[in-house]
Amino acid sequence: MAKRDYYEVLGVAKNATPDEIKKAYRKLAIQFHPDKNPDNPEAEDKFKEAAEAYEVLSNQEKRQRYDQFGHQGVGGNGGFGGGGMNMDDIFSQFGDIFGGGGGGFESFFGGGGRGRRTKKGTNLRVKLKLTLKEVANGVEKKIKVKRHVLADGVTFTTCRTCQGTGQVKKVVNTMLGQMVSASTCPACGGNGQMIDKKPAEADARGLILKEEVIAINIPGGVADGMQLSMSGKGNETAGGIAGDLLIVIEEIEDEILQRDGNNVVYDLYVSFIDAALGAQVEVPTIDGKVKIKIDAATQSGKMLRLKGKGIKDINGYGKGDQLIHVNVWTPKQLSKEEKLILEGLKDSENFKPDPGNSEKSFFDKMKEFF
Ligand SMILES: [Zn+2]
Repeated sequence: MAKRDYYEVLGVAKNATPDEIKKAYRKLAIQFHPDKNPDNPEAEDKFKEAAEAYEVLSNQEKRQRYDQFGHQGVGGNGGFGGGGMNMDDIFSQFGDIFGGGGGGFESFFGGGGRGRRTKKGTNLRVKLKLTLKEVANGVEKKIKVKRHVLADGVTFTTCRTCQGTGQVKKVVNTMLGQMVSASTCPACGGNGQMIDKKPAEADARGLILKEEVIAINIPGGVADGMQLSMSGKGNETAGGIAGDLLIVIEEIEDEILQRDGNNVVYDLYVSFIDAALGAQVEVPTIDGKVKIKIDAATQSGKMLRLKGKGIKDINGYGKGDQLIHVNVWTPKQLSKEEKLILEGLKDSENFKPDPGNSEKSFFDKMKEFF
């Protein structure tokens, strides 16, 4: 099923301010909240969809990537975390929407038992270098990651400070009378549990550093600096959900082919003789060498196009092309015999440049191509 545009989901304009986005999301979150729509899977889907849209559009960096690359750019498609948020993610997001402190949303609905905030482990960030070929076609990569995971044998006990609720309530005397304020339990950080027993090798949080090999499917068409995220593959945290693994793409510059958006450009040099008589030449492409025909009377600067030999579009709109820029090579030195032959041709009318109107300048040709 095609994913809906995040702006459309929230019902805001592309240039909406952070405040407008927040307001729009708040409205939808209230409308489709599971507490208000029990046993209504459609409402739950809408609730999740809105949360995901807000998650991206409320984050300046993610929003920028989404604007530029669409769902792929923010890991909302394909193999990256399945494109969904779970309920824990969503409720942990409510802190900043409904006033923080953990109790905000709960009090909004008159106390629903959703007050406990879920802790989230920290994100991990790794750089991944890709060749042009890998960028062009997409690739499955296995990367080694050292992440904090919960050690085997860690046991928990209910937090004594908050009795497992994750919150501490305080009665405050104000001019309007007594008010109860709730805040995240400082002893357990809000998850209601404390570590009871842990193996010796685990740290105070019950975690050990573990090296894991994680397989990731990189879609074709990623670009330098782009960040892909795999949800739940970051550091774990006791009693909470794991952080995300963020993969930052680094393109290794190709020595022969130059990337230009989804196209690749190749500078081909042919001898004056091949350009004049025509020839078959071999050119490198991303997927190996191909033979192409150079027509007789080819001018230097001519652009040839190999359709579909470029880079896959990140949003699935086909593939770019390979452009071949033909350069006619002038010999750097000549033997006596060669000089004699060329001098003999010097006065031939056919060798006088005569560009005329049919010969477009290099810039006109470039314009035609893009
Ligand atoms: Zn506690």
